[in-house]
Amino acid sequence: MKKMIPFVARLDGDETQLWLKVLQDALPDYQVVAFDQVGDEQRAGVEVAIIADPDPADLALLPKLKWVQSLWAGVERLMVELPDANFDIVRLTDPQLAADMSEAALAWTLYLHRDMPAYRVQQEKKIWQHCELPLPSQRCVGFLGLGKLGTVAARRLLDNGFDVCGWSRSKADIDGVATFAGPEGLGKILKRSDILIILVPLTAQTRDLLDEKTLGLLPHGAGVINFARGPVINNRALIKALDSGHLSHAVLDVFDIEPLPQDDPLWNHAKVTILPHISARTNYQTASALAAGNIVRFFEDGDMPETVDRTAGY
Ligand code: NAP
Repeated sequence: MKKMIPFVARLDGDETQLWLKVLQDALPDYQVVAFDQVGDEQRAGVEVAIIADPDPADLALLPKLKWVQSLWAGVERLMVELPDANFDIVRLTDPQLAADMSEAALAWTLYLHRDMPAYRVQQEKKIWQHCELPLPSQRCVGFLGLGKLGTVAARRLLDNGFDVCGWSRSKADIDGVATFAGPEGLGKILKRSDILIILVPLTAQTRDLLDEKTLGLLPHGAGVINFARGPVINNRALIKALDSGHLSHAVLDVFDIEPLPQDDPLWNHAKVTILPHISARTNYQTASALAAGNIVRFFEDGDMPETVDRTAGY
């Protein structure tokens, strides 16, 4: 009999069905089953589950669970909702996701580098006037977060001629990228970043990382791109810095509340570009193949995939 892998998710019906199909295709020797179709007896023996925004109450019904494979890269919600879980969490680390994120980093950096927001405003007013365009090498792009996504994106910007620097918890070593680490490195990277790209996870340490004081360290006229999580930036401080002219523009892909509420002032701010959390979306095929690989290696070779560090929170 095929081993059963439950899929525990709080997604809409169509998305659940699509995931069940692609996961089953990727795991032909296993039986992937929606959690509500798993009987009590079967639940008692489950060691591994695949999850996508799972209900913690459902996972609590799997007493022998050893680890869960998430289909998302971020684990912020899991850290909040499963504080005492006695199983490990494996998140999605997908080279396709990193490639997509690096494309987004390049696209929105060029948007700011090439003054596209300003040309949009000029067109509305029928103004024919050029903005000074520095060379990419004269524009410093700073990455907060040099993990699976930040590292690939930093390299892509480097390939496009930008002056690139980055910041992480432990000091990273990336050819051609000036790197900084820890609280003492934060001021250093902020002071030199003409365009700041945020790719740190949301943890107790990174909540409100960019407040009035830290945003104030960025060079005058800097742009900010947030791909990470909304609460890493304090929005009141951000709006103040944009209104005063200290910052030129913010591209925001992530928000404190998603979807962004209709009455949020960010929607109508002339210096803010709003994106609906689309920078790097999980790809059904590549994510299923990666999840399947982890599961097969675990059951066939006893290999445990890399798990989330609960103490660090990511
Ligand atoms: P990752 O591999 O875990 O990398 C996180 C990076 O942040 C690492 O370099 C880490 O430092 C650094 N970091 C964490 N806490 C820090 C702190 N307190 N001070 C300094 N640096 C800190 O994560 P990832 O896969 O690159 O993903 C990053 C984030 O992107 C996710 O957590 C998620 O929020 C977001 N995301 C967004 C989208 C989207 O579509 N918008 C899609 C996927 C993911 P170390 O290297 O020293 O550990």
